[in-house]
Amino acid sequence: MTFVNDTSRSPRAQVRPIAIERVELEGFVRRYQDLMKSTSLALQYEYLESSGRIDNFRKAIGSIEGDFTGWFFNDSDIYKWIEAASYSLAYNEDSEIRTRIDSLITLIESVQKKSEGGYVNTYFTGKRASEKWKDLKSKHEFYCAGHLIQAGIAYKRVTGNESLFNACISVADNILKTFPDDDCEVTTGHPELEMAMVELHRETGNRNYLEFAQRLIDNRGKGYVGGDEYHIDHVSFRDLKELAGHAVRMLYLLTGAADVFLETGDETLLAVLERLWIDLTSRKMYITGGAGSRYEGEAFGEAYELPSRRAYSESCAAIANVFWNWRMYMIAGDAKYLDVLERSLYNSVLSGISLDGRRYFYVNPLEDVGNHNREEWFECACCPPNIARLLTSFGGYLYGTTLDEIRVNFYEASRASIPFRDGEVSIVQKTAYPHSEEVNLVISTDLDTDLSILLRIPEWTDGDFDLQIDGVKQKIRPEKGFVRLEGNWKGKTEVSLTLRMRIRMMTANPLLRENTDKVAIQRGPLIYCAEGVDNPSFDVRTLSVPSKRNFELSESDALDGNPVVISGKGIAYDLDDWDKKLYNSLGSVKSKGKNVRFSLIPYYAWNNRGNSPMCVWLHVH
Ligand SMILES: [Zn+2]
Repeated sequence: MTFVNDTSRSPRAQVRPIAIERVELEGFVRRYQDLMKSTSLALQYEYLESSGRIDNFRKAIGSIEGDFTGWFFNDSDIYKWIEAASYSLAYNEDSEIRTRIDSLITLIESVQKKSEGGYVNTYFTGKRASEKWKDLKSKHEFYCAGHLIQAGIAYKRVTGNESLFNACISVADNILKTFPDDDCEVTTGHPELEMAMVELHRETGNRNYLEFAQRLIDNRGKGYVGGDEYHIDHVSFRDLKELAGHAVRMLYLLTGAADVFLETGDETLLAVLERLWIDLTSRKMYITGGAGSRYEGEAFGEAYELPSRRAYSESCAAIANVFWNWRMYMIAGDAKYLDVLERSLYNSVLSGISLDGRRYFYVNPLEDVGNHNREEWFECACCPPNIARLLTSFGGYLYGTTLDEIRVNFYEASRASIPFRDGEVSIVQKTAYPHSEEVNLVISTDLDTDLSILLRIPEWTDGDFDLQIDGVKQKIRPEKGFVRLEGNWKGKTEVSLTLRMRIRMMTANPLLRENTDKVAIQRGPLIYCAEGVDNPSFDVRTLSVPSKRNFELSESDALDGNPVVISGKGIAYDLDDWDKKLYNSLGSVKSKGKNVRFSLIPYYAWNNRGNSPMCVWLHVH
């Protein structure tokens, strides 16, 4: 059985996970999972091959000639691909994917046999072997090892085959042997190993891995990886007052710290996590759930520094935001973390991949002049396989349990068989979420016992929802983002939930000055944008929408997955009135602009029909 994060025995986990195999998706995310199997994983593999990443393993064992090529962290893309492909096998058997994983594992094992003590890293095999562990700040050995360990755990959980897992144990034990005690000047230049070591502890029961992860966190701020903000080594972890530095590094670090807390209950870690979560959600997160606003250093900016056009918002940062919020939810059981997770997933993560599963954004701006493109691959290709491993594992996020509850975390057409006490509860969801507000759940069980079923009421509903059980209307107030349905569920019960998706015109804090006097349109969990291809008669950046919400909804037939399109009548400012001037005195431009019909699509779906200008934040009148 495959848990994404196996917190089933974690002392501080309020919510326990459900295995991926227990939840079969049939809806919106399933479309992406099928794309992974049919297209994305194969295409990514071709790039792993053609870019020389797999050849680096062959070179390391001498089966082909030549020196390592590409970035020194390129091994990690192979490991992330194995992790993603493994999850996919849990519900989408594919002999070609399985054969490819097995051939990669053989290569990894061969490299390990060539190296001393269980070490695996093709950059440091052969002539650079003497440089191992000399540059923890920049050379990503821990980062690569972390991804290898996560891949080995995933492959073992899905297939029961322990070959790669055993190789990972040797990798991890080699690290413990190399850095045996508190005298070692050790921490991660790019966090990632923290969460991998905690998961290895969960899989093996060996506390040494957990203690090493804790040590990596305790050793921050000591100057072992440069002492600077970029590497989050400028202060100790517990003295972090705000998010700073490289966004993916920071969010991976917080994810790893949350993992350590789940096992140790160290409250001094939780205090930091809660403090920085507030900093993120109230000052430093895009409305799409993206994070990291600066190209320079791929970094967090100051509070309210969230430029749309120059947003960095790396796909990996949104994925890390999902990882971190998932763990915060397991710690606290509060759906506010799932709200942020959902915002990131359906907007910033999904914008990272094209609707045909072939191309990716590294950077996810909220406004564009029409020259930002997804690409099939990158020299630094962290994002594509990262998106793949999240989407292929999403079934594991849908539900959770506590001692006396089953929790419905997310809505997606699906069939689940949830183990509970000495029986099972089947939940079938029928819904076109996130495009539709209707969710029907059929709950069936032979269990003759009291049990609470909790349904998440997303924050964007503002409490506006309808709930019926077997046709009888219920009035229950949500607590911590869930309505609690108590009772004995023996037999079959139908639950109908309507999560009213009225169109919300979102405004930004006045200190986010770039968005002052603008609105972003949100329907359900989806943020919308205006794209030039739908609005050819005007520049979408001149569009002003009426604050009177007179919008029409229709289903797009131009975009895969047929998302809901929002259209209406607005104004496009006439640039001729400006006579090519940049500035004018207030009131001197008399024209009110021209009346136009506009059309908005979900942000995740933009840039799938060629290049044209796009913007999320719109003028309003
Ligand atoms: Zn990335």
